[in-house]
Parts: sequence; structure tokens; C-alpha cells
Amino acid sequence: MPENQCCADETCFDCRYWQEKTEWADNGDRVPAHISGDDLNLVARIDGKHYMVGPMNHTRPAHWLGYGGTVFTFRFHDGREITSNDVWAQGDIPQRWRDRLPDNAVIVPTEPRPTTVPFGPTEGLALENT
Ligand SMILES: [Zn+2]
Repeated sequence: MPENQCCADETCFDCRYWQEKTEWADNGDRVPAHISGDDLNLVARIDGKHYMVGPMNHTRPAHWLGYGGTVFTFRFHDGREITSNDVWAQGDIPQRWRDRLPDNAVIVPTEPRPTTVPFGPTEGLALENT
């Protein structure tokens, strides 16, 4: 079987897994409510990786959130920018599914925290020397 093909009729577990993701893509890059419980979960595809992006969650303990509550900001190709602390990865999209599941977003790099310049004897020191 050529590398570009999985099973003959796309009915194996892998194919059904990614077939479902194409349904989410056709749903406006939203996870359908019957999967996520609401229609607030967006789908982001970045560098061939697939993510579910929930709304910011301030009620659930961090260890129940995706990536342990790590905050990510996504910039979608349509210009929307969404920050979430509830991001779940579904893995690398196999090459043969990439044309049906093209990238739709980038992760915005986190701004480095501004360093507070201490007062006192060190005041005025250049930051790169500290
Ligand atoms: Zn297959």
C-alpha cells in the first residue's frame, strides 16, 4: 500500500479518528456540542498538529484542564485571537489528512515578563548584566 494511503476504505480506527476531525473542520472549526458539551470549543491546527481550544476556565482546578492549565494564545488565520487555559492536543495530523485538515492558526509566542529593575545599590544597572 502506498505511504499516502492507510486502509482501503478509510474505516480503521485511525481513519475514523481523523474523519471525525474533518467533521469538526466542516463545522466551522468548532467541536460539535455533542462531543464537547457546548459549542465553545474551537479547533486549531498548527504545523500539522491538532488542538481543541476551550474557553478560559476559571472554575476548574488547573490539573483538570488541558496542559495542566497552561495558557496559550492562538491567532487564527481569519484574524481572531483567542487565549485559553484549557487546550487539548489530539496529535500529529497524518500527512494523508493534511489537505483535508490544513493549518488554520498559529500560536502567539508568550511575551516575556518585564523584569522589575530593583532599587538600591543595583539601581541603574543594565539588565543584561544582571
Ligand atoms: Zn485507515
